[in-house]
Amino acid sequence: MKKAAVIGWPIKHSLSPSIHGFWRAEKHIKGLYHRVACPPTDKDFNQCVRQLADLGYAGVNVTIPHKTNAFNIADVVSPVAEKLGVANTLTFEDGAIYADNTDVTGFQQMLEGIKTPDDQFHSALILGAGGTAPAVALALSNLGIKEISVANRTADKAKNLQSAYQFISGTIPWESVETSISQFDILVNATSLGMVGQPEFVLDITKAKSKMIVIDVVYTPLETDLIRAAQNHGLRTETGLSMLMYQAIPGFEEWFSETAKVTPELKNYLIDRLKKKNSRPLKIGLTGSIGMGKSTAAKYLETLGALTWDADRAVHRIYGEGGVAVQPISAAFPGTVSDGAVSREKLSQHLLKNPEDFKKLETIVHPLVAADRAEFIENAVKNNATAIVLDIPLLFETGQSFEFDAIIAVTADPEIRKARVLERPGMSEEKLETIISRQLPEEEKILLADYVIKTDVPLEETYAQLDEVFADITAA
Ligand code: NAP
Repeated sequence: MKKAAVIGWPIKHSLSPSIHGFWRAEKHIKGLYHRVACPPTDKDFNQCVRQLADLGYAGVNVTIPHKTNAFNIADVVSPVAEKLGVANTLTFEDGAIYADNTDVTGFQQMLEGIKTPDDQFHSALILGAGGTAPAVALALSNLGIKEISVANRTADKAKNLQSAYQFISGTIPWESVETSISQFDILVNATSLGMVGQPEFVLDITKAKSKMIVIDVVYTPLETDLIRAAQNHGLRTETGLSMLMYQAIPGFEEWFSETAKVTPELKNYLIDRLKKKNSRPLKIGLTGSIGMGKSTAAKYLETLGALTWDADRAVHRIYGEGGVAVQPISAAFPGTVSDGAVSREKLSQHLLKNPEDFKKLETIVHPLVAADRAEFIENAVKNNATAIVLDIPLLFETGQSFEFDAIIAVTADPEIRKARVLERPGMSEEKLETIISRQLPEEEKILLADYVIKTDVPLEETYAQLDEVFADITAA
């Protein structure tokens, strides 16, 4: 199965997994796309990238603060990345790392999408001189705009950009932005002002030309004060969401060998995801391999006020007498049902003899478990729950990680885990090996989780870790 990821720091807010999740579902592609938090040092970045390449990932999207590191780590760079010295997309192939900068095409396609035949763009003012500003400037230049100016709070950085990139024609003092606005056809906010957690961008744009387009690269929140001010003044606007969708296309197409399109359906889906992010109840995924201590963690999280749902318990429910899985399993695997319920023993004997039937069983069970879960979530919403914990052993393996506000993985020393599991009735080393072989390697789960809880320590220490993690998640 092909795998890719987005890496950055912080990364929990990223919408890229949702974009890929939408396209995968649309194209019925079996593949995985995860978010990986990679601390903001060169060393950590290099380690994350090498680890993902070794784990068989096809590539990664790279976001703040690693775009320069992404350029530096590459063996081969695209002409666009070469021009900017910054990359946001890495592809791993035959042991080499290829870097590209798709922010440029992302911005370009977004602007081409909103441009009308009457539009005559000659000049643009970019606010900000950070990592995104040069990509925006190159996109504008590629679209034939000759006069591209930059204004930045730290004036030297704007001047440095002008010296580094010949397609930037001038700079404007930060204090003169409002009085200079009338000279430009396009205004782009490429600062982090207006982003969640940052101050709003308060700008008087009443002197703007009536045909000016105002673009904000920020997409969380979707509508910034700047966008609202421009709309109130009757100007055309575009948020950072379109650029984000377009910049994701090349990576998706390269890694999953399928075409991808920006459509109103994708946009609406992402707007819905943005609205739901951090809304109550918070959706926490709890995962970990067999015997790692998920049930202990789930029970403790319940005492902290979370409502929990357990995939294994759901399977028990649907396998039990009168359960919705009994009839389809009986039809697919005759002889595995007794006394009106699925016999787990008979079913696992059947699967040990016919391992190829795992897939068939999954096709029956997964939709039924999903329906059970949907009902649980619906009830939690009705009951105004603060947080719900979904205990899902194969959370990463089944490509659901993008649906969660936070993911906790429980882990323990493999030998301790083995001893715990072998104490269970009916468990054997062979059975344990079969279960483990269907899961991602432990190091990969640890890399993909937002929080990792160690359970091979005294119970109070596990609880203390959970206290801290739950407080951090619910503070969002
Ligand atoms: P960056 O490299 O950290 O640069 C931040 C810029 O914001 C700098 O120019 C900085 O000015 C300015 N700034 C920060 N705080 C300010 C303040 N209080 N007052 C005035 N200026 C301030 O960030 P980046 O990588 O360029 O990203 C900028 C934004 O673009 C982020 O919100 C990011 O999420 C967004 N983005 C969106 C997309 C998309 O697809 N939509 C793609 C890439 C980036 P100084 O130099 O003076 O510090």
